Amino acid sequence: MNWLFNFLLPVYPLRCSLCGEPLLQQPWMKMGICSCCVGDLRKESIRDADICRTCGMPLISERGSCLSCRTRQHYYSSHCSLFMYKGIARNLLKAYKFQSVSSLSFLWAQLLYEAVQHKFSQPPLIVPVPSRGSSIRGRGWDQMELIRRNLSQKYSLDTAKILSRTGGSSQKKLNYAQRMLNLSGNITCTCSPAELPRKILLIDDVYTTGATIDECSRVLKQGGNTKIYALTLALAPY
Ligand SMILES: [Zn+2]
Ligand SMILES: [Zn+2]
Repeated sequence: MNWLFNFLLPVYPLRCSLCGEPLLQQPWMKMGICSCCVGDLRKESIRDADICRTCGMPLISERGSCLSCRTRQHYYSSHCSLFMYKGIARNLLKAYKFQSVSSLSFLWAQLLYEAVQHKFSQPPLIVPVPSRGSSIRGRGWDQMELIRRNLSQKYSLDTAKILSRTGGSSQKKLNYAQRMLNLSGNITCTCSPAELPRKILLIDDVYTTGATIDECSRVLKQGGNTKIYALTLALAPY
């Protein structure tokens, strides 16, 4: 039986990646998380009323738009995250990205799908923000590509991997302006502007300064009148 368990383990984890609860016969088994932890995660969802309608950052005393969006123009029309990068969402994202619990891609895809259904009557073409080549090589797989594939195969959403990324160093310690400079010329679109639809939804894992989403949006808007929306798993304000 050992060989069978070894074969099944990477696809169907036997225990919840958060609390360790055995997952056999649980509905969320395939996703690597137990029903209880999914319930707790959902309680952390960001509410539309609490965020800037443009960039998705939490509002403190402002109403509608944050102070930053009143002075800075974005290339995208609006962005929002499912969760703040803290608590359960942060632990799950860390397990997904750094401990390679790839089965969580099913969970992220389901949550993104629910958000797309909630926000759009007609889902736009979904385009993943391209990951840095060095981070894909380090991990051995592409975390956003896996989610894109689930959205396409399980939920029949239109998706396209039309952005590619070359060079650029890690952006962790850079501010918005430094990130825009670091990204400059590194993101390209593999199809012509004429082929792009009227609406595109960019998806990514973590939104920090918004520079990556802005640069992807700038590239996608060149020469066309495509409207860009963005949806990310977690918000980690810089
Ligand atoms: Zn659990
Ligand atoms: Zn804002």
